[in-house]
Amino acid sequence: MRTTCPYCGVGCQVEPRLKEGRIVEVRGAEIPPNHGALCVKGRFGLDFPFSGKRLLYPMVRERKGAPLRRATWEEALDFAARRLLEVLGRRGPEALAVFPSAKTTNEEVYLAQKLARALLGTNHVDHCSRLCHSSSTAALSRSLGGASMTNPLEDIWKTDLFLVVGSNTTETHPVIGAMIKKRVRQGAQMIVVDPRYTGMAEASTLWLRVRPGTDLFLLNAMARFILEEGLWDRAYVEARTEGFAEWRASLEAYTLEEAERITGVEKEKIALAARLYATTERAGTYWAMGLTQHTKGTATVQALVNLALLTGKVGKEGAGLNPLRGQNNVQGAGDMGALPDVLPGYWKVADQEARRRFEALWATPLNPDPGLRMTEVYEAIPEVEAIYLIGEDPVTSEPHQDHLKAKLERLPFLIVQDILENETTPFADVVLPAASFLEEDGTFTNTDRRVQRVRKILDPPGEARPDWWITRELGKRLAQALGRPWSLHPGPEAIWEEIRQAVPEMVGGITYRRLEGEGVRWPCPQEDHPGEAVLFRQRFNTPSGKARFIPVHFTPPAETPSEEYPLVLSTGRVLYHWHGGTLSRNSRLQEAYPELKVEVNPKDAGRLGIHDGEIIQVVSRRGRIRARAWVTDRTPEGVVYAPFHFAEAPANRLTLDALDPTSRIPEYKVAAVRLEKLD
Ligand code: SF4
Repeated sequence: MRTTCPYCGVGCQVEPRLKEGRIVEVRGAEIPPNHGALCVKGRFGLDFPFSGKRLLYPMVRERKGAPLRRATWEEALDFAARRLLEVLGRRGPEALAVFPSAKTTNEEVYLAQKLARALLGTNHVDHCSRLCHSSSTAALSRSLGGASMTNPLEDIWKTDLFLVVGSNTTETHPVIGAMIKKRVRQGAQMIVVDPRYTGMAEASTLWLRVRPGTDLFLLNAMARFILEEGLWDRAYVEARTEGFAEWRASLEAYTLEEAERITGVEKEKIALAARLYATTERAGTYWAMGLTQHTKGTATVQALVNLALLTGKVGKEGAGLNPLRGQNNVQGAGDMGALPDVLPGYWKVADQEARRRFEALWATPLNPDPGLRMTEVYEAIPEVEAIYLIGEDPVTSEPHQDHLKAKLERLPFLIVQDILENETTPFADVVLPAASFLEEDGTFTNTDRRVQRVRKILDPPGEARPDWWITRELGKRLAQALGRPWSLHPGPEAIWEEIRQAVPEMVGGITYRRLEGEGVRWPCPQEDHPGEAVLFRQRFNTPSGKARFIPVHFTPPAETPSEEYPLVLSTGRVLYHWHGGTLSRNSRLQEAYPELKVEVNPKDAGRLGIHDGEIIQVVSRRGRIRARAWVTDRTPEGVVYAPFHFAEAPANRLTLDALDPTSRIPEYKVAAVRLEKLD
């Protein structure tokens, strides 16, 4: 049976073959988006549902300090509802937060945010995109009025130049990486902006090795050069944009000479990149965490948006602005309203007209004040007294781990709903065991807005239940106590039907029946609509219909190297593992990549007497971890690179919790560290 890969946002269609209840083989389905291709995660990493770490029954902790004990579903849900209602009654909705998961289905995200808003009255609703593409969402929304890839993946075959900024695509979105590399072999050019020599840098026709955290300067300098040389698209700028004059004036300081000094990239290379990008009609931009996870993440994405508008690259085939979304359903989680300022379909909670639509559908008044973002919610503990956390492991994925743990210790009430035990489970007061992607029906929306089916192939183990069932049952108890309406949907398709009603302009034309074939891309307002491939062909989704230039300026990272901490730590991912490691490290992938390896440049290693394969300590102002050194010039001199998947050696013990002022994303890509040899 065909279903959707639960790892990255490519959304590959997979066909797992089972024997005696176990996966023996996984094939890629011969339909979009992957056309038979799979990466190592999809092919060998789908066996985590059979891990011995599965949560098999509900558990409750009667009081702080007491152990978690096994409970019935009835008991656990009653206990959870009673504690949430107690906080609500005593402190009001602002003391409650709900974090739906970008790993769960659209139906489950929709229901969880509905529970938060319609029953608990809180807009403290958020999900893990706060930690990955919230900067992209902020910049794209304010400039274009929409936060998603503007172009479909099949446009890769029409693209003549790729501008790939801060994306290790071959490891994090491997099937897309392979598509782009194939297109380059067919003759397209590729400019890669990255401090590391990634697989994309290796395949590039021009690699700009920027210093970490300096991309914004480079992008602004490219824009200034394009203007100076008269290479910009005057007709496009005049017809389709606003704010140009003010933005143009803001670029005065971004000369090529200054850009070379700040970024470390030769000015001739910057000029060449600018010229190539401006003069290639079908030039598509792709980016990921290397650009977004900075205290100036929103400003940096904005610089990329400004560059694309200047050269008329948005609203055209084979071009566009394409943030590569990380999790399997992170696009869907945003679409379904798992954000503190928007309802499903990105309708603003502060907009009275928008609220009326949902108040009518949910038959309850809604809170008009945008809520706190995820990173702010953790900071607000213990004023925030209760969190309903679904499919997340913040202890591994949030920055400055020791600080977060101290916050969780002080949190009066935490519900953890997950499929596997992880580093956050020990902090839970209630543990609710969920079904995995193999054990339930629903839909995920991939990185290019394609809604695809998830199909039940197995029954959940033990007493685990689908997330939608758990949220529905918890909601039933809250609704009964509060005297509010709450729909008892019989299953995911019924929830999807409510979503179609809630946001008809987005997914009104997408039915489960249509999804029996290929997935369908939104916006798709009617059942005979094919789904929109390229966004913004005629107008942008702003009040004026024009895209906005917004001036942005370079600022240094929050923490820069010092005598005591002379190196820059950048964190990220490797091909074999996925985010906090809860899934991939409980699969066969663990055998292929069992431990943390920290990349150290040979010059730094030589200076410190560190040998390849040696166990060293990485130390920041916030803590220290042990890791195996991988001496390699993939990482530039002065920089060390550590993936964050390894709970026993958590890179996020080292990172700092400095946040972007707009998106509140943490600065995962730059922290000051030193390396120590073990005695
Ligand atoms: Fe799964 Fe992404 Fe790999 Fe495709 S590219 S198989 S969606 S992890």
